[in-house]
Amino acid sequence: MRAPIARLSPFNLGNRMKTTRDDQTISGPSSTESSSLVRLASPLEQGRAAWKREHVAVVLGVHVLAMLALVPWLFSWTGVAVGFAGIFCFGTLGINIGYHRLLTHRSFKCAKWLEYTFALLGVCCLQGATIRWVAMHRMHHQFSDKEEDPHSPLVSFLWAHLEWMLTEQKNRSWLVTYDKYAPDLIRDYFYLALDRKGTWFFVWAAHTVMFFVAGFGVGTLALGGSLVGGLQFGSSLLVWGAIVRTVAVWHITWSVNSLSHVSGYRSYETADQSRNNWFVSLISMGEGWHNNHHAEPNSAAAGHRWWEIDPAFSVIRALSLVGLVQDIVPVRGHIPRVQAKPVERLLAIIDTDGNRKEVRFDEATPDDHSRSLPTDDQDSSNSRAA
Ligand SMILES: [Zn+2]
Ligand SMILES: [Zn+2]
Repeated sequence: MRAPIARLSPFNLGNRMKTTRDDQTISGPSSTESSSLVRLASPLEQGRAAWKREHVAVVLGVHVLAMLALVPWLFSWTGVAVGFAGIFCFGTLGINIGYHRLLTHRSFKCAKWLEYTFALLGVCCLQGATIRWVAMHRMHHQFSDKEEDPHSPLVSFLWAHLEWMLTEQKNRSWLVTYDKYAPDLIRDYFYLALDRKGTWFFVWAAHTVMFFVAGFGVGTLALGGSLVGGLQFGSSLLVWGAIVRTVAVWHITWSVNSLSHVSGYRSYETADQSRNNWFVSLISMGEGWHNNHHAEPNSAAAGHRWWEIDPAFSVIRALSLVGLVQDIVPVRGHIPRVQAKPVERLLAIIDTDGNRKEVRFDEATPDDHSRSLPTDDQDSSNSRAA
């Protein structure tokens, strides 16, 4: 009998309590251990990390700038539409498909020009240099919900959502980290150039200016040469199309790290607290199927059941249909699925005469288990014997 999976919520993870070894259970590889509730001490309180002033200033500053959206003079429906389009263009193509599924997990292949395009779109989301993002996310997968995890909500919900990136680990050498977690990217001058001297930040800043210039140009022409009209339209595109959109994509990405490790259902018995979260999946174009993703990080598809909608994967498939994407890594289904209650399950068994018969799970002999067939509660594409 498996232990029940611990229910986590933002509330029981909210207080950053320090733990001792006595009341702390370290996640292990088995399903029982992975479902144990673990609390991790805050690296800040432990003195292992310190606030990074530049990061705090940028995150705070851009949030304050986004408040300009409340100024009626800066509103335009075009700006709002451009903002929504930007969430897809920069967030989904840049972060979700580019930074995450392509560069971190290499779940498909494409030409270099397309890879760099995805990366540049990701840079325009102000989530850090490509190499650092990839290294941190690979580290997250290696140590998910353990002490070395850069952003586990087992420290606190806020830590996982944004605090972790406002701090710097005191003993971390970025050279060593890059070499260990992103050796493929540090050999590419394109990514090195983006990383060097904060180039990625200036790329983001330059793209926000381009939004203003484009809006100013269109606004001036459309309004018969009125400078005020151009200023108003350019500013609305800057605020809504670039600043507000940057903040929106931030919180969408951060929700994958926080909400999807706290709330939702589990399909796979992974050694972490990852969850499949409907809300996060909807706002992130499929990234919220995070338990699926932790079970198969390299698979291009995060949605494993037909109703787990994964628009980002649909984009990847569409790109493959027109020949822009190749070698999509499929879902293999090699991680055990979370089981239903034993008494509710039936084993389909082929007996010695080759006939199919069904017996209750709790009535089956160990020998029956070894020759059972997939049951109805398991997805056909990924089913495996119980
Ligand atoms: Zn995760
Ligand atoms: Zn991942």
